[in-house]
Amino acid sequence: MSSEFADIPIEFVKGIGPKRAEWLRTELNLYTAGDLLEHLPFRYEDRTSFVGVSELIFESTAVQLKGVIRSAQLVPMKRTSRLVATFEDDSGKLELVWFKGAKWIASQIPVQQRVVVYGKPSLYKGKWNIAHPEIELESQFQQRNGAGLQPVYRTTEKLTQRGLASSGIAKILRTLVQHPEFSFPEFLPDFVLRELNFPSRMEAFKQVHSPANSKEAERARNRLKFEELLMLQIKLLKQKQAQTQDLPGVRFEQVGARFNAYFSNHIPFELTDAQKRVMREIRADVNTGWHMNRLLQGDVGSGKTMVALLTTLLALDNGYQACVMAPTEILANQHFESFKESLRDLPVRIELLTGSVKTSKRKPILEGLASGSVHILIGTHALIEPGVVFQKLGLAVIDEQHRFGVAQRSKLWAKAKPAPHVLVMTATPIPRTLAMTAYGDLDVSIIDEMPPGRKEIKTVHRTDAARLSVFQFMEDEIQKGRQVYVVYPLIEESATLDYKDLMDGYESLTRRFPLPTFRIGVVHGRMKPEDKDIEMERFVSGVNQMLVATTVIEVGVNVPNASVMVIESAERFGLAQLHQLRGRVGRGAEQSYCILMTGNELSKDARLRLETMCRTNDGFELAEVDMELRGPGDLMGTQQSGIPDLKMADLLKDRNLLTTARYIASRLLEEDPTLRNPENAILNEALKRAQKGRTNWSRIS
Ligand code: ADP
Ligand code: MG
Repeated sequence: MSSEFADIPIEFVKGIGPKRAEWLRTELNLYTAGDLLEHLPFRYEDRTSFVGVSELIFESTAVQLKGVIRSAQLVPMKRTSRLVATFEDDSGKLELVWFKGAKWIASQIPVQQRVVVYGKPSLYKGKWNIAHPEIELESQFQQRNGAGLQPVYRTTEKLTQRGLASSGIAKILRTLVQHPEFSFPEFLPDFVLRELNFPSRMEAFKQVHSPANSKEAERARNRLKFEELLMLQIKLLKQKQAQTQDLPGVRFEQVGARFNAYFSNHIPFELTDAQKRVMREIRADVNTGWHMNRLLQGDVGSGKTMVALLTTLLALDNGYQACVMAPTEILANQHFESFKESLRDLPVRIELLTGSVKTSKRKPILEGLASGSVHILIGTHALIEPGVVFQKLGLAVIDEQHRFGVAQRSKLWAKAKPAPHVLVMTATPIPRTLAMTAYGDLDVSIIDEMPPGRKEIKTVHRTDAARLSVFQFMEDEIQKGRQVYVVYPLIEESATLDYKDLMDGYESLTRRFPLPTFRIGVVHGRMKPEDKDIEMERFVSGVNQMLVATTVIEVGVNVPNASVMVIESAERFGLAQLHQLRGRVGRGAEQSYCILMTGNELSKDARLRLETMCRTNDGFELAEVDMELRGPGDLMGTQQSGIPDLKMADLLKDRNLLTTARYIASRLLEEDPTLRNPENAILNEALKRAQKGRTNWSRIS
């Protein structure tokens, strides 16, 4: 009995057989009775009421009729054939038609018997017909437990053609849960069932596939999703336990001279409460004797760099070197300049290492790293190359995490033994519940507060018709001494066209804003790095008032005097990217603006993105909408998504269950870290079974 029931291969499940089993395996990845049971209905249809043929109305939704199939015949068509059957009830007749799988259905169709028919009626040449209806013998319909509520299952076209439309799957499952040996042991602890008012595991499977009413169905479905999420959370929390125990870390025990000197004499502002809280979290974490692996999330402009700087000083004061890795040269440069400026009065040697640093300049840097005379190294991925050897690396800060792959990060770890503490900073907030799962084994710190005095960036959507007034607005701002970004999309597939758009746009701007009154620069990926740097520098230093660019300026660039961000073809950008771009302005004291330019034709999703941008400045709120639009997997990027493959639950729709599962998991592990107590034995077993399974638990870091 018990777990073996779940292991029964599907070909031995009643109503399937070897051929259909093969299809279920290839189409839906279902291998065993257990898999089949975990293939939960995604909704239920109410099947309590019937209509007569004479009562049918135009444009109605699916209806249910009771009557007799009088005749059925295959009608040959060009390559296949279609099946046409005549259905009759007390009030009239209609046609049932199948275009797909006609032969197979013809062999099964119960002619001259009383049936229940379900489908969407349509009117063709004055006659009612239903294409691809569901049919069931009336006797069966009545027999079946909960005839009122019909579960609807995900299926595929190929399966539908082989009699495994949703109704076919429903029938198999209904039979399966009535099997005399159908039985599942409970593995959730008693208190969980009681507190959450869940049915037992066995009841849940019965009720979900053959429910008496919708309340019962919902409760059962929640229980099953919950158990999947609970297993996931236990797994992630244990992974985290193991990781911290396996990886010793260096201790930053003291707050020393450099930190104190900077903090007392040089820091230009007071930290926000959120920055203070995060610093406390980090300080506690780097002094446990275990390795820190922390994700710092904070909206654009929330002041992550200061946290990085202070953490770096902490490393230095404890006798360690630190490095800061940025995704682009521009950004590495900017960090370098700002670190140098901030620490100019302190005895700290900072160097910059990027791909364009010449060999002759490289040598002294590398020597300084090896001897320990270079304290902080800032750079691009050039700094994870094998030739870069530190004397004593204690901390690696990674800015804008989403640009780095897992492989690159692990190279960083290898630069010191014990591995350096890692602080990953990202300005692409992801919803908390998702962070909890995708980065389940990372600790997460959140800066959820902007530095004081920030004004909300006013965001508007304009179409090309308003271009002249947009130009006027840009001119007014420039006259006030402000600077303006104009950003064009650059998508690899259409790169050539996109570059043309960019250059056309640049030219028309130079005509509208001519020299010598106006100075406009342009930056894009096809320029030589030196030229790019020169152009950037001219904008950063205020020589140029306008910067026309592709998304190269997306990440991190800090020009507080810039107050207008114009985004061309804004409908082509994703929400996260739009928000990133908007974050380039609003960094100074002035009121800033973001203008989203589009054509007139917009898809529904694009419209929602633009509306959301205009409505809110809150990155976490945007992330929620983004996740609704794109789904969690996409949001994280496919390659390093770390998003587990769930069979029953949905990270997006079941967020409340997920939070509860996280809470219960940590409660369980707190009381019984190894789950070896007798009352958790079955849960532990179930966990092991689940881990043996097919699920791919990719790790993020
Ligand atoms: P991000 O989180 O996007 O990396 P930055 O670290 O670049 O943000 O900070 C954005 C701006 O806010 C910088 O000009 C920085 O000097 C300023 N800033 C950071 N923290 C504070 C604070 N506590 N008070 C005032 N300004 C701050
Ligand atoms: Mg930053």
